Amino acid sequence: MDENSVVGIFDAAHVRDFIIILLWIEFLWETYLSIRQFKKAQCVTEVPDEIKTVMSKNEFEKAKQYSLAKLKFGFVKDTHGIILTTLIIYYGALAYFWDFSHDINPVKGEVSTSCIWLFIVSLISTFIDLPLTIYHTFVLEEKYGFNKQTAGFFVWDKIKAFIVNQIITLLLSSVIIVIIKSGGPYFFIWLWVVVCILSMVLLTIYPSVIAPLFDKYTPLPEGELRTEIENLASQLKFPLTQLYVVEGSKRSSHSNAYFYGLFKSKRIVLFDTLLAKDDGTGCKNDEILAVLSHELGHWFHNHIIKNLILMQVNLFLLFLGFSIIFKYKPLYGALGFFNVQPVLVGLFVVLQYVMMPYNTVLNFLMTCLSRRFEFQADDFAVQLKKAEPLERALLQLNKDNLGFPINDNLYSAWHHSHPPLLERISVLRKNAKKVK
Ligand SMILES: [Zn+2]
Repeated sequence: MDENSVVGIFDAAHVRDFIIILLWIEFLWETYLSIRQFKKAQCVTEVPDEIKTVMSKNEFEKAKQYSLAKLKFGFVKDTHGIILTTLIIYYGALAYFWDFSHDINPVKGEVSTSCIWLFIVSLISTFIDLPLTIYHTFVLEEKYGFNKQTAGFFVWDKIKAFIVNQIITLLLSSVIIVIIKSGGPYFFIWLWVVVCILSMVLLTIYPSVIAPLFDKYTPLPEGELRTEIENLASQLKFPLTQLYVVEGSKRSSHSNAYFYGLFKSKRIVLFDTLLAKDDGTGCKNDEILAVLSHELGHWFHNHIIKNLILMQVNLFLLFLGFSIIFKYKPLYGALGFFNVQPVLVGLFVVLQYVMMPYNTVLNFLMTCLSRRFEFQADDFAVQLKKAEPLERALLQLNKDNLGFPINDNLYSAWHHSHPPLLERISVLRKNAKKVK
């Protein structure tokens, strides 16, 4: 063994330990926050005044148990994840699969080996995660009445998701590898341009091509609700072209609504769980219109475009960072890659691990920004004099989803991209007074 490779192995061990320490710091921080939230939730017994009108003491207690169960599940899932990741990194499991992919690949090229490797790794990780996914859907969600999936639907859904995921990931990865390998010294600019274009294409075709593979979309039937929504859209000059209901209730009974579409062709999608049903769940028409006014607030304030721009700027910075350090061999050695330096592995190590502190800070800032956007969208609905039905809708949705509205401040600040219910209601009421 010559001197250089000894130094190489030594440096690689340092990078490996650095990555593992970063991962554990993040895990311990998240666990600390969850424990704070757990303790806070555990000692609450009184139903807050704002939600007394819609939630009985029993329902509130059920919501509390549901939120505690989700926190416990999250803890098991995270612990399982961190131990597994530590072992994979420590024992160089990914490099082992790389060697195997290389051996069975008749072509031996980097693009084809990377694709085989990615396929094998995602297949294995899907199976490793399966017991937890099954528990989450068929035990946890089932117990609180949210699971609407049959075993058959679940299996077929997972297979479809895996296939679609593989097609997109393998195509995208192949393009990325070719650009990094042949893009010259400024490859990161080409990489950025191409990934930007591809992500825009995916975002554009996703709702009309990919989403219908998984769920059934039907046009909202003619009637009072449809007319009222169309009136609201034309009053605000929102270029509504299609109005769908998605059968989200086949998957789970958590409810929502959203709009999508670039430029002058927008579609609104309502989850069927949002619509009023005989069992008392769902929203009345004026409440649905208030929820849509909130969504249209996001459109009016260009929140989607602002988020897209931030996403692309971030992507540029990530690729720039990658281009600066991707030739540093210990990055690959840290994961057990001593003889080969596949660019896809380098991209994964840099984006996922080395830039973790940057990603974490950025995520937190994006969560703060998202809460700001939510308040702006709420205020848009308030200006349309929909504060009162919006409050009713939020309370109804919280009840239907068994939301537990009591939060530890730090936990909430870190995790909640939407402002907590009680805070939203108090701001709605305050702003509504100004409009009258
Ligand atoms: Zn919103």
